[in-house]
Amino acid sequence: MLTTYYICGKLQREATLPFGAIKELSQKYNFHIITTSVQKVLSEEKAVLLQDGKTKYYDQILISTGARAFVPPIPGHEGERVFSMRTIEDADYVRKILEGREIKRAVVVGASMVGIKLVELLYARGIHCTLVDMAPYIFPLAAVPCVAAEIERRLTGMGVALAFSKALKAIEEDGQRVVFADGESISCDMVLMCIGTRANTEIADENITVNRGIVVDKRMRTNMQDIYCAGDCSEGCNLQTGDNQIIGIWDNAARQGETAGANMAGVVKEYEGNMLHNITHFMGMDFIGFGDVKSEGEEFLYENKEKGETFVIRVKGNKPVCMNFLDSYGASGVLKAYMINKFGGAGRQMDSVSKVRLLNEGIPEKLINFLESNSEEEDEWEK
Ligand SMILES: Cc1cc2nc3c(=O)[nH]c(=O)nc-3n(C[C@H](O)[C@H](O)[C@H](O)COP(=O)(O)OP(=O)(O)OC[C@H]3O[C@@H](n4cnc5c(N)ncnc54)[C@H](O)[C@@H]3O)c2cc1C
Repeated sequence: MLTTYYICGKLQREATLPFGAIKELSQKYNFHIITTSVQKVLSEEKAVLLQDGKTKYYDQILISTGARAFVPPIPGHEGERVFSMRTIEDADYVRKILEGREIKRAVVVGASMVGIKLVELLYARGIHCTLVDMAPYIFPLAAVPCVAAEIERRLTGMGVALAFSKALKAIEEDGQRVVFADGESISCDMVLMCIGTRANTEIADENITVNRGIVVDKRMRTNMQDIYCAGDCSEGCNLQTGDNQIIGIWDNAARQGETAGANMAGVVKEYEGNMLHNITHFMGMDFIGFGDVKSEGEEFLYENKEKGETFVIRVKGNKPVCMNFLDSYGASGVLKAYMINKFGGAGRQMDSVSKVRLLNEGIPEKLINFLESNSEEEDEWEK
């Protein structure tokens, strides 16, 4: 997830591996690596079928194959100047193009967290950038409209062009023209596709339950004995809805991996689940979104005009369904814990240390009082 910092030169290639390279890790923790692609997990044989046709047997297995960038099969998607961003190899490729060719105009398709990171790096290189999405506003899966509008206002002020409510129809001239369903088009020197990911679940055989991701319980067990799954390829619990869902973020993958590891080693450990959330720093802004922005409710807006901070909380039936913060990063940990606590049904009150931290971070007292009043009304919440 640090690849865009590598492309723009903020990080060296090795620094994209903050825990170290796999070889170093294998020496430190004494594990054996086989560099190959697994074709299938054969759940009944308790074996994996490798790329070279050989099988390898296991007592227990963890599937943690992550996800891949999804590129829709529109005409021209395989053009020479069309890129996606998931792996370090993708990053190497984009970096090479940016260094080797004169790129003046780029189109980024997908106003997502990855999309904005790409806009950031292109902008830093002085490349004119158009951010495109079929949704009507930026961060459609995380931002409430008024916060999105403020981010857009700032982006356009910096010279980033925005093209929202635009469905992509085709990419022409090898990636030098993007054509929309409404007939309009934009010419450019490269196209970066960031419209989402697809879980790598294909290695699961027919006995393993797969929806969008491989379905797991709180111990990261699949429906098949001794087969565990964690990370972006798995569907764990969304605490807010109680449904299984892929929550494709690093924090979730790490916690799921830790839980799976403990259980595989014989320690019973449960991971209750997570909520949808995004914490993104880009172009001098901090955006934080917690909860499901598609949930309806009454919206409360708090602004700290002195510091230029915006806080929005949406509430339904006395329960917060989502929160957005713009430019207030320091409070994110406390508020994330608060939301997870609420969605998880733990019903703990906000402690005084958390309250002081929120006040110190400039969270308006009115908002803190609101959150506190909810903490005390657990019966209401339960209803
Ligand atoms: C540009 C970018 C920015 C991001 N920014 C953020 C962010 O700011 N915050 C955040 O929380 N998350 C971010 N993410 C998401 C985050 O990177 C993922 O949630 C996280 O990497 C998931 O970890 P994982 O181990 O499940 O999967 P991955 O990191 O995808 O690892 C899966 C591994 O499995 C291997 N593999 C796949 N199939 C096979 C097979 N058949 N056989 C053998 N090996 C296989 C792959 O090669 C890969 O090494 C970002 C992602 C990208 C691409």
